[in-house]
Amino acid sequence: MSDPWEKDLSCAEKCSNCDAELSQRDQRILSVYTHEPICMNCKRQEEKRPDYEDVSKGMIAQCIEDTGRPYGDPRGYCFYHFCPYKC
Ligand SMILES: [Zn+2]
Repeated sequence: MSDPWEKDLSCAEKCSNCDAELSQRDQRILSVYTHEPICMNCKRQEEKRPDYEDVSKGMIAQCIEDTGRPYGDPRGYCFYHFCPYKC
């Protein structure tokens, strides 16, 4: 069975928020709002949103439930909403 979160980690070629191109070497991170890969610029904007902290907490709880993995487990992907990754 494939992990439903795995597809969100696919090597997106552009930021799902601003359409900036992402090369394989560029770091990207998952949005806590959409779970789509976004660029680091957009992440900084996202972090400024007033509900960011609440949304993050809800997202973590949901992600752990969905994946059945602890938050710190990279295979659980919850992690990549806060830890930038490369392709
Ligand atoms: Zn972006």
